[in-house]
Amino acid sequence: MSRKKEIIKTDYALIGGGIMSATLATLLNQLEPDKTITILERMPHVALESSSAWNNAGTGHAALCELNYTPQKEDGSVDITKALKINSQFEESKQFWSYLIKNKCIEKPKSFLNAIPHMSFVYGTDDVSFLRKRYEAMHVHPFFNSMKFSADESQIAEWIPLFLENRTSKEPIAATRIENGCDVNFGSLTSNLINFVKEKKNVSLKLAAHVEDIEREDNGKWQLEVENLETKDEYIIEADFVFIGAGGGTLELLEDSDIDEADGYGGFPVSGQWLVCKNEELIHKHYAKVYGKAKVGAPPMSVPHLDTRRINGERSLFFGPFAGFSTKFLKNGSYLDLIKTIEIDNVFPMLAAGWHNRKLTKYLIDQVRLSFNDRMDALREYYPEAKNEDWELKIAGQRVQVIKKDDEQVGILGFGTEVVCSADGTLSGLLGASPGASTATSIMLDILERCFPQYHSPEWQAKLNEMVPYRAKDLRENPEKVLDARKLSAVLFE
Ligand SMILES: Cc1cc2nc3c(=O)[nH]c(=O)nc-3n(C[C@H](O)[C@H](O)[C@H](O)COP(=O)(O)OP(=O)(O)OC[C@H]3O[C@@H](n4cnc5c(N)ncnc54)[C@H](O)[C@@H]3O)c2cc1C
Repeated sequence: MSRKKEIIKTDYALIGGGIMSATLATLLNQLEPDKTITILERMPHVALESSSAWNNAGTGHAALCELNYTPQKEDGSVDITKALKINSQFEESKQFWSYLIKNKCIEKPKSFLNAIPHMSFVYGTDDVSFLRKRYEAMHVHPFFNSMKFSADESQIAEWIPLFLENRTSKEPIAATRIENGCDVNFGSLTSNLINFVKEKKNVSLKLAAHVEDIEREDNGKWQLEVENLETKDEYIIEADFVFIGAGGGTLELLEDSDIDEADGYGGFPVSGQWLVCKNEELIHKHYAKVYGKAKVGAPPMSVPHLDTRRINGERSLFFGPFAGFSTKFLKNGSYLDLIKTIEIDNVFPMLAAGWHNRKLTKYLIDQVRLSFNDRMDALREYYPEAKNEDWELKIAGQRVQVIKKDDEQVGILGFGTEVVCSADGTLSGLLGASPGASTATSIMLDILERCFPQYHSPEWQAKLNEMVPYRAKDLRENPEKVLDARKLSAVLFE
């Protein structure tokens, strides 16, 4: 006879111990300290999937260097709309982190954030002309007015000497640079946030807690079936509100919840790899995050970049990411993940997305077939003197790109993030990966607005204004306010 499972009641259940749940738990705890929050993570520690420092690039995405946020229009001009959005969203994250530091909620900023110049580097006449136009469109805006441009080899050699060492190609080159870009250890930030909230009497963190199913009860509450992966015990979490922040595990749980809003979504996994530098001397010869331009047909997340990282006090140097294909949705997931998410309502959009993205499929096949030397050749396009023996290949995090029906009911593949909320606001899930962790604060503020009627109450508004006084939309409409917002977040760079 099976034993009756224990039912643990909580106001809010957050699935996943990555940066998204950590951010939401912290916001909710600040807004409603009396409500109970339960965070459920299947791994033995938090931040072991995409939010781990080794699994993502740690770029504080603010569109300072990423060329994919500024597409060139047919008339040749450069559209900076997306860059303005991402920059203003990163300002929200910086303000929230600064609030937490000033109120001694989390450790000193150096434990998770370091200022590192953000640069773009291009070669070839067309790309140099694109970069110049991008600079002209951006540096006149208050968000980007510290951007510098140079097509002068000696200046670029001063900024990034490795790129000019024995560069024999006669192609023109150009670069832009902004000094105050950020390298963020999102793993450390996640641990910081969760360590802070789990000390509160109303917040509990359950590790090795794998959520297997989600069901709606007749009383309107959600029941989560959980297995403790260490003891094999099973229990139920009953909650009024559920956030599915399970990264690659979100799609399957959203499908289990049976909310209409999740119908038709599918996922396409793309794995990643880095070349990581083993030569200490070399690591100290480069100090910047330098983004190049994606090859034609390449997805935006595979823009090549040579990055200085600071992880747990140590400096390192990464190049990549190279894309790969695996049917797993989590790095620590199962090869059956892709199959398990295929349902009647998403099979057609998924097939259609596959058909419409044949270029991407070809790109991924080509990437998977690359040898170590081929990958080194890709690095040598930026750093011509790179030697194979100084670098090793490491596996990065797993991304699951969103597939959804468009207006014609055909499947399209998206590279952004997608928040899915039930109509009554009692359940919400986050799909997709980009711009991801950098905009976690904005994404979670959006969830609060869509799912919690008290968002508009004077109490919540007052607290929200204390935590994030300059909101992204306000900054876009009044860009001159960015200076005040940056003064508030100066504490991050002390
Ligand atoms: C190669 C790569 C480079 C990237 N570079 C950047 C970058 O430079 N800047 C940036 O801002 N973003 C970047 N990102 C994106 C960023 O890493 C993600 O957006 C972010 O980490 C997602 O956080 P999350 O909390 O949603 O997911 P995760 O960190 O993946 O956390 C989800 C958690 O849920 C747990 N889980 C899953 N299923 C279950 C279940 N059934 N029950 C219980 N727990 C479960 C997992 O174990 C995991 O710990 C990058 C991502 C990749 C892969």
